[in-house]
Amino acid sequence: MSSVKERADLALNNDFLRKAVRFTTERLRDGKRKAADDHGNWEEWRERGRQIRLHTIAHLDYYLDRFAEQARANGAHVHFASTGAEAVQIALEVAARKEAHTVVKSKSMVSEELHINRALEEAGVEAVETDLGEYIIQLAGEAPSHIIIPAIHKNRYQIAQLLSREAGEELPPETSVLAGFVRRKLRAKFLEADIGMTGCNFAIAETGSIVLFENEGNARMVSTVPKTQITFMGMERIIPSWSDLEVMATLLPRSATGQKLTVYMSGITGPRRTADGDGPEEMHIIILDNGRSEQLGDPEFQELLNCIRCGACLNACPVYRHIGGHAYGGTYSGPIGAVLTPALNKNVAEWDDIASASSLCGACYEACPVKIPLHDMLVYLRRRKVEQGYGNKLETAGMKGFAAVTSNSKRFHRALKAGRVLQRVVVRNGEISARIGPLKGWNRYRVAPSLANQPFRERWDTLQHELRASVAQTVTGAAAQERMKAALHKRAARPIDRKEGHSYDE
Ligand code: SF4
Repeated sequence: MSSVKERADLALNNDFLRKAVRFTTERLRDGKRKAADDHGNWEEWRERGRQIRLHTIAHLDYYLDRFAEQARANGAHVHFASTGAEAVQIALEVAARKEAHTVVKSKSMVSEELHINRALEEAGVEAVETDLGEYIIQLAGEAPSHIIIPAIHKNRYQIAQLLSREAGEELPPETSVLAGFVRRKLRAKFLEADIGMTGCNFAIAETGSIVLFENEGNARMVSTVPKTQITFMGMERIIPSWSDLEVMATLLPRSATGQKLTVYMSGITGPRRTADGDGPEEMHIIILDNGRSEQLGDPEFQELLNCIRCGACLNACPVYRHIGGHAYGGTYSGPIGAVLTPALNKNVAEWDDIASASSLCGACYEACPVKIPLHDMLVYLRRRKVEQGYGNKLETAGMKGFAAVTSNSKRFHRALKAGRVLQRVVVRNGEISARIGPLKGWNRYRVAPSLANQPFRERWDTLQHELRASVAQTVTGAAAQERMKAALHKRAARPIDRKEGHSYDE
């Protein structure tokens, strides 16, 4: 598998991708900012959201039990899967029992985590994505590159090419034509599907309901037309009650797309009842652990489970905006992916380099509607990597050397002196632009400042002197101002000829 650096290099050299990702993330980010401003009490609601998530995750065992009990009472089959493989196995068994030929799916990051499409296809079952973005990347044979906008890296010309291939005729790159083609194509699939597969935005513990947020109406079709429904749910999707959903329904769409409300919000409480007009006859809810429970009780990573998968941290991240989602290499990308993937997958050697794909600017934390300190977690991951011996040897040696030099003032001064002499070879106009050694990557896109000819400590005496002089001047200036004020006051206190002018009191 290639490294993050190699994948990022590929992305940086792909102008189409960079423009498409930048255009959409900036639009989403601005939309989110406006929606938060219009809301008026955004910070209070953000804190409320965080408190709900903290409380729920702290009592996850209780709320999961409650949810399962209620969902079963509603007639749903509830399964617990401790690994991805177990979840896939349960879904395949249901599909086999139902003799399913076609499965329609609505967008679900958990199902991406499970690679369920591949598993279904290997079992001879056709899996059809019905979210427009997911459908496009399924045709392209790619993975989603954004939690909310899976095909963010594609422009309409590339999409027209893909859909034309599927249509067997040339389709113009016009959004309405392309969407119209997909709508007609998918309608037939909804009607013929044996199973509908959904994810779960939130699961309500008090009633055993699952809640789906979407904008296209496809999730509603997936969860009402086929006779059997399978819902994949990360175990942390729980919230205690419908009143907590009010807070989440305020935070999620605003943070994801800048919408005040999602277009369709479906609450599903068990399979179809006798009096219901639609809905599946059989409903399976597969609750997935897959490494999540290992974060519980971990003071550094437990808050990861608070994530509501809004994607706002991706749109805010300067690194994601440049390299897109595929460079992260896992199902989840951006700052949340950089933390979640290594946290869920303990293979440090394989994944921890994505924690380096961050400038640690903290924009992700600022954007996050439930205030997850992702930037802190990225630092913990980097530390874990070094502690487990997977750090870059050169970097580790460099850091040790840096610590040895900066922890001793004599050594530090000597090193600076030597640096000032040695840098002469590479400094031009006060900047180091040479692409050598560790500066190679940095100087490809920017320049490093050179060491000052005279260090700050040597300038300190002169600076102090200048500072004192300037304070004295200010004091002199202040005294002159007082004198002028007094003179003016004296003049104003003189009786004024009303015919000639006005006193200050008027
Ligand atoms: S970490 Fe926060 S901002 Fe990022 S996807 Fe999760 S909830 Fe949204």
